[in-house]
Amino acid sequence: MSTAAAFDSIDQHAAADAPVLPAALRHARASAGYEQGLARAVELLRQAAAEHAGAVVQASSLGVEDMVLSDLIHRHGLDIRVATLDTGALHLETLELIERARRHYGMDIEIWRPGQEAVVEFLRRNGPDAMYRSVELRKACCAVRKLEPLGRMLDGRSAWITGLRREQSAQRGGVREREVGADGRVKFSPLAQWSLGDVWHYVARHGVPYNPLHDRFYPSIGCAPCTRAVAVGEDQRAGRWWWELEGAKECGLHPEGRHAVGADT
Ligand code: SF4
Repeated sequence: MSTAAAFDSIDQHAAADAPVLPAALRHARASAGYEQGLARAVELLRQAAAEHAGAVVQASSLGVEDMVLSDLIHRHGLDIRVATLDTGALHLETLELIERARRHYGMDIEIWRPGQEAVVEFLRRNGPDAMYRSVELRKACCAVRKLEPLGRMLDGRSAWITGLRREQSAQRGGVREREVGADGRVKFSPLAQWSLGDVWHYVARHGVPYNPLHDRFYPSIGCAPCTRAVAVGEDQRAGRWWWELEGAKECGLHPEGRHAVGADT
């Protein structure tokens, strides 16, 4: 896809971007299994804190699912660090949310950034719009801005926590509540079974701070050049790398081929 076409696509969606109702009002609807799912999420977070004391981190995308997890960690006083990546290409709304969450919870949030020299070199070689030219270049950008700092974030830690949910996309349909990576690190996804309605029900009930872009039809938020609003009926992750075919649309933070550990009911 050309750069111009990519930005046309952003504009088309921006035109349909006027807020109608806050996301919580649009989506909050507890499923029949909400209370059970909430108890299960807390149980998994407690397991992570107990089994990986001092060595577990919530790798927060700052999306609404991760804000729910940070709220649960804070609410239950769990010994789990919260960290996020500042890729250098985030929306201002996302950067502002970090400060808002820090104030709201009185919580220290670690921020991990890519190496400046690596970013400058990537831009010098490939230009600022490289991600639109090929999947390979897009993944190379993600490797520099996301994977490398994530590796440093996880270094020395035996477990991490993510906000992945099965319902988010076909690719995430097999997300496990806990699994072990090839590196032996345990990944917990306590909201794997939650519905979007459950997530927003929790947000509405507990006043969880969230990114205002969610109110403007961005269900999934990444870097600004690679995220757009979605239209009615589109997949929850349709606004991420929208110019690519469905099968390519992950950034490498959550590769498949893990081994499940324990129950995943
Ligand atoms: S999401 Fe886009 S801007 Fe962000 S690291 Fe990946 S390719 Fe680069």
